[in-house]
Amino acid sequence: MTAHAAPGDPVRTTCPYCGTGCGVLGGPAVATPGDTDHPTNFGRVCAKGSALGETLGLENRLLHPAVDGVRTDMARALDRVASRFAETIVEHGPDSVAFYVSGQLLTEDYYVANKLMKGFIGSGNIDTNSRLCMSSSVAGHKRAFGEDLVPCCYEDLDEADLIVLVGSNAAWCHPILFRRMVDARARRGTRIICVDPRRTASAADADLFLGLKPGTDVALFNGLLAFLARDGKVDEGFVAASTAGFSEALDAAWKDGDVASVAAICDVALDDIEAFYRAFADTERVVTVYSQGVNQSSRGTDKVNAIINCHLATGRIGRAGMGPFSFTGQPNAMGGREVGGLANQLAAHMAFENPDDRDRVRRFWNAPRLATGKGLNAVEMFEAVGAGRIKALWVMGTNPAASMPDANRVRAALRACPFLVVSDCVPDTDTLRHAHVALPAAAWGEKDGTVTNSERRISRQRAFMPLPGEAKPDWWMISEVARRLGHAEAFAYRGPADIFREHAALSAFENTGGRVFDIGGLADIADAGYEALRPVQWPVVSGARHGTPRLLGDGRFPTADGRARLVPVRQQAPANPVSHDQPVMLNTGRVRDQWHTMTRTGEVPRLMSATAEPVLDVSPADAAMFGVTEGGLAEVRSLWGRALGRVRITDQQRTGEVFLPMHWTDAFASRASAGRVCNPACDPVSGQPELKHTPAAIAPFPMR
Ligand code: SF4
Repeated sequence: MTAHAAPGDPVRTTCPYCGTGCGVLGGPAVATPGDTDHPTNFGRVCAKGSALGETLGLENRLLHPAVDGVRTDMARALDRVASRFAETIVEHGPDSVAFYVSGQLLTEDYYVANKLMKGFIGSGNIDTNSRLCMSSSVAGHKRAFGEDLVPCCYEDLDEADLIVLVGSNAAWCHPILFRRMVDARARRGTRIICVDPRRTASAADADLFLGLKPGTDVALFNGLLAFLARDGKVDEGFVAASTAGFSEALDAAWKDGDVASVAAICDVALDDIEAFYRAFADTERVVTVYSQGVNQSSRGTDKVNAIINCHLATGRIGRAGMGPFSFTGQPNAMGGREVGGLANQLAAHMAFENPDDRDRVRRFWNAPRLATGKGLNAVEMFEAVGAGRIKALWVMGTNPAASMPDANRVRAALRACPFLVVSDCVPDTDTLRHAHVALPAAAWGEKDGTVTNSERRISRQRAFMPLPGEAKPDWWMISEVARRLGHAEAFAYRGPADIFREHAALSAFENTGGRVFDIGGLADIADAGYEALRPVQWPVVSGARHGTPRLLGDGRFPTADGRARLVPVRQQAPANPVSHDQPVMLNTGRVRDQWHTMTRTGEVPRLMSATAEPVLDVSPADAAMFGVTEGGLAEVRSLWGRALGRVRITDQQRTGEVFLPMHWTDAFASRASAGRVCNPACDPVSGQPELKHTPAAIAPFPMR
């Protein structure tokens, strides 16, 4: 079978759910089995991936555009989008409009959206729901390495002797990668240590579980840095030759105290802390995996750097079986980072702050009005919509009315927005209900392009079904609006291969001033080569077609002096503490069989069967304290809103903390959306919201 199969045959494509990026075989006649040739999963798929074939029907599809709730044709709908954006820009300036995009978009979609907003409209106001997922990792990478670089690859999970999972329930959220870890344990005795406030499925399968108090990760890793120094495990040669800031970082770490102090801060048994520190100190091949439990915090960037500091101090980075490894949540969070889909990025890892970068991008795009500075991040963007500063907003492939923190305020902002465009593939989301223009977008199986997974591997998503109704790829709709805004030449793409080549050419070394992110070797790829593109890890430098599994192993970093930075960080509490009126800390996250706001996975009965409702996990002591009962309904109340959950009493939950899944929306049940309750406080460096720490009260519902 070739990548581009005969009509009706299975087509090699990529799963559209988590950032693992598994290869699957798509086709109307197959049940999306894993692609045995894909180097991520070698044929395996998880429950969600195996059910992809059951999500392909047209029953729950948006098939035609609508303006003000009335069906129209695509040309008229796009005319309306372009004319309202143009009027708004003329009247109120380029910063009065914004795009809010998604890690579900393909890289080609993302590239075109970023180019239109930053290069031709002239505003930095494009941000992505990946802001909610991994922007603290991006910021931490930049502070430590000088560029947003993931040094590891999945083979490192196979080759590690110790894997530390921090704020990552990989067993549920990245199941195929967790299988690789468990296989490594069976094959070479790899130990798995899980650090998480909840005793998750990953914790249950770990060799050691540290059930730390939420928000104390910096203390844990500062304590580890101090322990490594005391124990003589610092790689003095690497630190001297390849890093800066070690003394300052260690001084800060000492201030969080000795092992006993750390045990007290983290509320973990001293023996367990010592066992973790001893295992890390004595094992050369250590991979530290971290995910949303680290990122979704008002101190997320500091947590990331506290972890990276320990790898830099020991020189355990960029070599087989070792390194700090951020797992991305969404299928193309990484692709969005590559093109500049975050409001503070320019393009191709270039920076607004650098005048040379701005000049390079301006010349490359022949951009008439390149944005001069960063735009609004996700939380700021919806605040600006609510305050009337943003008057035209285009939401692409995401549902912020449900998924943003302080979602009640986001809904109010969307209701008040003078002009809201929503492009999506489903007909009813909490966001779409407020749209002035609804645009039918191509869905998985219909759209064509690339995605990049957590290990920097670019894989093709290939179409294997025709576009239904009037649905169109996102890049096409954005380009058509650009054409109507007077930029026909710059957006005259014949298809995704044209866009990919342009993106690759922009990333080439000479165009980016020598950034590590470089896929210039793919800039001259022919249409047939793009169609047949095999999964490949960036960088792919000019003159090459092969990729690069690991980065930074040579001890050189893309900073001005070539050294990595250890960043001094101190333990700090979450932004909002519990109080008399909000006595428990609400944590939110994923369940095993659902994806985001369930627009696809919610359609599959067997995926709904494991967890049919939003289940509120409560410890036995808290259940007794607050009078909630197993199987009963409970209301969660915070300063920002209320939501309902079905109570499950479990000793997997720490007392004083409750957990509610993020997936349910008002489309399933009234007041089911966790976003209504969540705290909008953000990390000051990354702008990532604190979705793991919301002070709240719980009570039986209805009140007795
Ligand atoms: Fe899809 Fe992630 Fe499951 Fe792989 S692990 S099949 S990418 S949901």
